[in-house]
Amino acid sequence: MFYPTGRYNLNFDFGAILLDAILLIFYLLRPRIIRERRTRTFLILLFTLSLSAVSEVCASICRNIMGEGIPIDLGILRISTFFSHFFHNSLPFTLCIYLYEVIGITHRTSRRTYILLSIPEVIMIVFLFIPPLRTLVYYFTNTGEYMHGIIYIQLYVAIHVFYLSLSLFTVISYRKALLPPEYISILVVVIGFGLSMIPMVINQYMKITIFLQSLLVMIICIILESDNDQFESSTGLRRRYALWKDVRQCFETRNKASVISVKISSLSYYRMILGTLTIRHLEKMIGTWLQQFASDKIRVYHTQEESYAILFYQIDEDEVRKIAGKIQLRFHEEWNCDEAPVFLTTQIWIGAIPDQITDEDQMNVFIDSPYDERLPENTLHFQNNMAPQQRMKDVEFSLQHAISNNSLEVFYQPIFDTRDSRIHSCEALVRMKDEKGGYFAPDEFIRVAEQTGMINRLGIMVFEKMVSFLAEEKPEQYGLDFVEVNLSPVQCMDPQLADQLTEILSLYHVPASKICLEITESAVIHNETAMRSAIEKLGAAGFSFALDDFGTGNANYSYVMKYPFQIIKIDKSFLWGAEKDENTRIILTNMLSLVKSLKRHAVVEGVESEQQRDFMISCGVDYLQGFYYSKPVPRDRFINFLMNFRV
Ligand code: C2E
Ligand code: CA
Ligand code: CA
Repeated sequence: MFYPTGRYNLNFDFGAILLDAILLIFYLLRPRIIRERRTRTFLILLFTLSLSAVSEVCASICRNIMGEGIPIDLGILRISTFFSHFFHNSLPFTLCIYLYEVIGITHRTSRRTYILLSIPEVIMIVFLFIPPLRTLVYYFTNTGEYMHGIIYIQLYVAIHVFYLSLSLFTVISYRKALLPPEYISILVVVIGFGLSMIPMVINQYMKITIFLQSLLVMIICIILESDNDQFESSTGLRRRYALWKDVRQCFETRNKASVISVKISSLSYYRMILGTLTIRHLEKMIGTWLQQFASDKIRVYHTQEESYAILFYQIDEDEVRKIAGKIQLRFHEEWNCDEAPVFLTTQIWIGAIPDQITDEDQMNVFIDSPYDERLPENTLHFQNNMAPQQRMKDVEFSLQHAISNNSLEVFYQPIFDTRDSRIHSCEALVRMKDEKGGYFAPDEFIRVAEQTGMINRLGIMVFEKMVSFLAEEKPEQYGLDFVEVNLSPVQCMDPQLADQLTEILSLYHVPASKICLEITESAVIHNETAMRSAIEKLGAAGFSFALDDFGTGNANYSYVMKYPFQIIKIDKSFLWGAEKDENTRIILTNMLSLVKSLKRHAVVEGVESEQQRDFMISCGVDYLQGFYYSKPVPRDRFINFLMNFRV
């Protein structure tokens, strides 16, 4: 089993050189940031291993030649022997430092700890450098024969045992900072490094140790350093997954860190106009610009299509703010994207781990919550309290659940016709139950649905439920002429909307004339071109339209009236305001006469009392909607209401 003594076996060392060279080439060829300390440390480990193999081969060849009685240059023998000792004894130290990097504790490891950690390595170097001490490790006889000194084995064993047990201890203490495959592979590597010393102690001629260690470093390369899943090839930035890993590590190793989250608002809009390729170029430009801040302690991530994040390890708050300020300023300027100037609006958030962001869930909310339309553009925000974002995430989660379970409900609120005192129509309003059996406010979850793109599915679901209600209950038998249903501006951007709606109608054999689509005033002014084409298509399909929340969007009335809105719904704030304030009363009565003279029908919303009803009837309003008649109710209660309705 053992290799015969007297002549050094070089086969494994040659194998090790080959293996290390392949690892080095692959590692250096990858598009990866050499600026980082972890990468540099791994490269030092790989170089130490390679040089250890090379110097050992050199020394062994010299000794083999001398063993055959051929004289050689003793200088080469001495130098290669020195380096083979130096590099091989330095391996456990470099491995230990590398593992500190992998676990992520280097950012909070003090200089003093590093100095203490280096003492055994320094002692080893002193022993190798100072000739009288060196003879204790190894020496050459007068004939040039290489001999082990009296502490040769002790020095080797001591240094390996020290660094490997320290590594083992650290890895086990911080195992939660690692993913299971990482943890197991590190254990294998550390234990394997120890075991690989055994053949060397048993038979110095066998020379298999470095080859075994190269195999172990290959495991590191495959499991710990293969980071294609962490880096985005198009921008070269880290992905969301990498941020998740790094943040998890911060919490597990009790590292302090700050995070900047850059949320961009208008990117999807530009994607529609400029195309995906140009936007990819733009994303790369933004990424490269942000990458200028990257260093050993600062990492940049492209977390989602429209957001970037920067993680700062142990960097003081002022520095973080300064960088956030620079980012904010940069986004005030244009991005020159394939000759087209692009202006992006952002919100920049700063949060601290663990003071403000106390756990991984909060971090996910901090990073993944979308651009908040209610907050001002191009502003800097400090995360003091995660509650609003957490709430948004909860709503998003419930919404996903409700959409995939088809558990959204549709309620109906009657609209009263003052001219013939009957319920002539109703408004369909979506409802989503919360976990306590109550309901989420539609205003809240509709906004989240719009921001997350779920509104299209939600809108179609509501529409289908409403159409099935018309088909099954046939409310026209109780005098109901049509149903009004809300369309979100986001839905109107979908070129397929008209086809989808008509398909549902034909499925249930319901004519489009039974449906009036409500579009808000602000939607019409903010998305003129898209709205015009959506309204044209839907109008051609036979739908009629109502202008919702009239008076709240500061629209130029004559401009809005160019659209085919047969019904104008006056926002409830006007009726409620008119009761208290003379000016609002004047505005309301003027609005009503304007609608009348333009030959449209007005609906006044928010009628809650008899006085309000009488006041509106005296103003000659055609239609009234409000709690005075009924709150929005489920379909069977609404049918009951229709059957029993008396003025
Ligand atoms: P909206 O379109 O202005 O709907 C009228 C809102 O006023 C409804 O609130 C209704 O319950 C409420 N309301 C009606 N009469 C009275 C009253 O007399 N007093 C008071 N205090 N409130 C009254 P709701 O159901 O909470 O809906 C809020 C908003 O959510 C809606 O405002 C609409 O913008 C949106 N929404 C609701 N359902 C849908 C839907 O299916 N699709 C879309 N895109 N938006 C919806
Ligand atoms: Ca409405
Ligand atoms: Ca309204």
